[in-house]
Amino acid sequence: MRDTTLLVEALKVSAYTVPTTAAEGDGTFAWDSTTMVLVQAEAGAWTGLGWTYAPAACVELIKELLEPAVNGLSVFDVPAASEAMARTVRNASRPGLAAYAISAVDCALWDLKARVLDLPLHRLLGAARSEVDVYGSGGFTTYSEEQLRDQLEHWTMVQQIPRVKIKIGQDRGTSTARDLSRIGQARSIVGPNVALFVDANGAYTAKQAVRVFQAAADQNIVWFEEPVSSDHLDGLREVRQLITADVAAGEYGTDLFYFERMCAADAVDCLQVDVSRCGGITEWLRVAAVAAAHGLEISGHCAPNLSIAAAAGTPNFRHLEWFHDHVRIEDIFFDGAADPQGGSVRPADNPGNGLTFREHDALKYRVGRP
Ligand SMILES: [Mg+2]
Repeated sequence: MRDTTLLVEALKVSAYTVPTTAAEGDGTFAWDSTTMVLVQAEAGAWTGLGWTYAPAACVELIKELLEPAVNGLSVFDVPAASEAMARTVRNASRPGLAAYAISAVDCALWDLKARVLDLPLHRLLGAARSEVDVYGSGGFTTYSEEQLRDQLEHWTMVQQIPRVKIKIGQDRGTSTARDLSRIGQARSIVGPNVALFVDANGAYTAKQAVRVFQAAADQNIVWFEEPVSSDHLDGLREVRQLITADVAAGEYGTDLFYFERMCAADAVDCLQVDVSRCGGITEWLRVAAVAAAHGLEISGHCAPNLSIAAAAGTPNFRHLEWFHDHVRIEDIFFDGAADPQGGSVRPADNPGNGLTFREHDALKYRVGRP
């Protein structure tokens, strides 16, 4: 019988800013770097890994509020830590950075527990499937024709991923002619048999989104993500009723109520959940239950290697976003990062999430306090 008195002793927190390889942008945002906030939760000889993609300010938030809330709790009772964190950020307000920080800690604590028990994380959670389907995600509006071609060919021809997503809604929806020509270009590159997804990141109005979809009718788009702002639930529902593609949203959700409101409004055909934002694995599992009660599947948004075990443990799971920026960073930072060859990934068979942090390789990107 393993010692069940093991307690969380410390959270080591660090932030890393990694420049993009090219200018990147979508319908409503542009960026030239990505910041990861990494949490190493320590108990005895074990360390659990979790992270979020968020401003480095999360480091201070974790040290000031979350570490005191979880230190001294049993490593086996992650829901107790999740609840303690939710309570301690009441006045700081959970939506936004606090939830992102909680997610990183929650994921680190689940990984810690699995490592202590010497179990693969998906076995600790209990798996519903042995493989997790992924889709290639990038196709930034800032890409040239050549850059888009290189990326799509890499996913579909080299990696044999049968699902890809590109960004549309360029310049807050004011460049629909280019959106349509890029959709046509993407279809001609990937051929007729690859599922083509688009993501407008909330750049269009509802009717504009329907018009764009109709104008691209020949391109067989099967997934239209955030055609309008994900805060505009009526708009999402309007679009959903008028197009054949599945409408998806949910990537900004940071608590159960957000997802319940989105489902109850009939706003989506598939609910997106980000394990590095929603509250971690603890909340992901509850979000999946909410979606199931509304007859919906969930799709994992970003932070791909952090999501695999939770995705494997979710019965109503559809696919995981293999997002260009995060894949690149996780490949640099972790030994054991998954390979999407063939269009799916397998959860690691070694303890925890199966990842080892390559601190030495990450060091040159380190930001903030040492
Ligand atoms: Mg999106």
